[in-house]
Amino acid sequence: MSFIITDRCTACDACRVACPTQAVSKGSPIYKIDRDACNNCEGVMGGPRCMPICPESGAIIFQPEA
Ligand code: SF4
Ligand code: SF4
Repeated sequence: MSFIITDRCTACDACRVACPTQAVSKGSPIYKIDRDACNNCEGVMGGPRCMPICPESGAIIFQPEA
């Protein structure tokens, strides 16, 4: 829905494994978040999982709906 992966992604796979809605898919060279599948981790304790688990600063960013 509102998180996107930027070209700072190093394809480490952490966010794909952590995502509760299987919204993240492998890509080359960067991973991708399916905006329709991502629900911003609604209902997940602690909030969005992908962004805090990502080791690369700026690789996952919040992008409000256009
Ligand atoms: S915010 Fe949550 S549901 Fe959306 S991509 Fe990240 S981990 Fe998956
Ligand atoms: S956790 Fe960050 S660096 Fe790793 S695959 Fe996801 S976006 Fe890329």
